[in-house]
Amino acid sequence: MINEGLQQDLTQDNIILEGELVFLQKENNAYKNLTKSIKLEIPIIRNIESIEKLIETNEIDISNKKLILNEIKDQSKGEVISATRFSTFSTCPLKYNLLYNFKLGDLIQQSYRFRNTSQLNIEEDYNRNELSSYLFDDESNLTEYSKFKGQLIHYILRKNLSRENLPVFVEEKLENNFDENILESLKSEILNDLFLFYDSEEFKFLNSFSDYRNEFEAYLKEEDFYLFGILDKLLIDDENLIIVDYKTDNISKNEINAIAQKYLPQLKFYAYIISRLFNKRQQIEGRIIFVKHPEKPFIFNFDEIDDRNIKSSIKLMIHSIRNNNYSVNLNACDDCIFADENSQCIKSRVMQNIN
Ligand code: SF4
Repeated sequence: MINEGLQQDLTQDNIILEGELVFLQKENNAYKNLTKSIKLEIPIIRNIESIEKLIETNEIDISNKKLILNEIKDQSKGEVISATRFSTFSTCPLKYNLLYNFKLGDLIQQSYRFRNTSQLNIEEDYNRNELSSYLFDDESNLTEYSKFKGQLIHYILRKNLSRENLPVFVEEKLENNFDENILESLKSEILNDLFLFYDSEEFKFLNSFSDYRNEFEAYLKEEDFYLFGILDKLLIDDENLIIVDYKTDNISKNEINAIAQKYLPQLKFYAYIISRLFNKRQQIEGRIIFVKHPEKPFIFNFDEIDDRNIKSSIKLMIHSIRNNNYSVNLNACDDCIFADENSQCIKSRVMQNIN
């Protein structure tokens, strides 16, 4: 291909490249073009003689040298730990390793998409329910609709869009992204959830605070690493700091407590950062609000025991990452994307196939 472009006869002794090249030349503070003929001859060498070249040196005296034969350890520092990473690690350290170090989440998502688009009749033998849940914390791995729905609702709430403007706004956004078949069902799903939320007592409560931050980015330096999180909303008054986290999971009312428990490490991680950025005398409260069920917010108070637990969990996480040591939590396999239909971890299945 290269030769076709160069149009050379490679049976000759030389490759000749020639033509006119235009240079930009500066003359009396002005630039002008200068055309020059250029010819390059590159000899083709077909036989390479091996020449042994011995270099004579005096023998090296190592008697006075200090030999350091210890293992050189790679000491990493300055890690940036996000709330979602902390939450994943808290669920199962191995899951963290597979997701963030081996990037297997992308691979699974792509195979899921491929099966859907190619309509192959292959039985799915891994747990893929998690793909439609925000529990699967890397957004890029969510199914397209869940991701779109989540992002759009978060955007609308961040911008404090008024109730009357919702239908037009949602329709416009959907039209730019999906075809008509999907449009109607997704539009009514998003609008129904939003109307429910806008009409709720919870919505009124959140809007009763004059001091608030939407999409509040919180950063904290701890020892030699950093913690960070983006809070959907932070409400502030003299006595309280209220961390609000919106969730767009498609769940039933009975599932609220169980699913909220799984989001709890993430919220406590936010609370840990906020407790160090604001006045310690304020009480910190967390509210996980499922937009579909605004009448039942999951509320918790962040206390000193939580604070100590989160601190030691963060330290454990940093220690594990730095030592590349990821334990397993078999209690979390039922809901994990890396478990098969028997709740067996992908890792143990791979190991069995190797042995
Ligand atoms: S399947 Fe179980 S052990 Fe494997 S990564 Fe998931 S939670 Fe951890």
